[in-house]
Parts: sequence; structure tokens; C-alpha cells
Amino acid sequence: MKTKMKFLKSIIFAVIISATSIAILDSCEVLDDVLYAVNEPKCTGCKKCLSVCPQDAISIVNGKAVINKEECIGCGRCLSACYEKAIYAIPDSE
Ligand code: SF4
Ligand code: SF4
Repeated sequence: MKTKMKFLKSIIFAVIISATSIAILDSCEVLDDVLYAVNEPKCTGCKKCLSVCPQDAISIVNGKAVINKEECIGCGRCLSACYEKAIYAIPDSE
């Protein structure tokens, strides 16, 4: 009986964790009219932004991050990942 309860509890826990994860992912807003760019002097080339970009829109050129505007969907994950604050938002029209 105890084993059954433990199993049931672990299932409930897994469901709660999954639901929370989905809610967090849904809250990652993609802005149609905003893209992101790199302030080169601030960039240390650490590549943290590369690892979080879902579009593979960032590459390192001459030791600095470069964002491909054609690929960027404006999710802002790179902005959050950059501890150097080298990434900033720009209007999509630029
Ligand atoms: S996370 Fe910031 S400092 Fe690191 S490579 Fe990307 S833009 Fe440069
Ligand atoms: S905003 Fe999103 S899609 Fe655009 S470069 Fe940053 S992480 Fe990649």
C-alpha cells in the first residue's frame, strides 16, 4: 500500500512539474516587432547567448557575438543570458 501511495505521489509530482514547465515556456513572449543586436565593445565572446538561441541565429565573428536578423524571432533569451548586458533590443524595422 505504501509503495502504491509513493508511486501515486511521484506521478502527481511529475504532472505538476510538467504543467509548470509548460506554463513557463508559454510565458516566453516572442515579440514580432522587436529584434536584438550586440553592443560589440561589451561582448566578451563568452558564447552564453549562442547556447540559448532557439534559432541558431547567433555566431561569433572575430571574438564577438553577431545576431542574424533574418533568423532572429525576438524571443529575448539571449538578452537574459548575457551577463555583460551586451545585447539590446531594436525595432524590427531597423
Ligand atoms: S552572452 Fe553576451 S558577452 Fe557572451 S557572447 Fe553573447 S553577447 Fe557576447
Ligand atoms: S532574440 Fe531569441 S532568436 Fe533572436 S538572437 Fe536572441 S535568442 Fe536568438
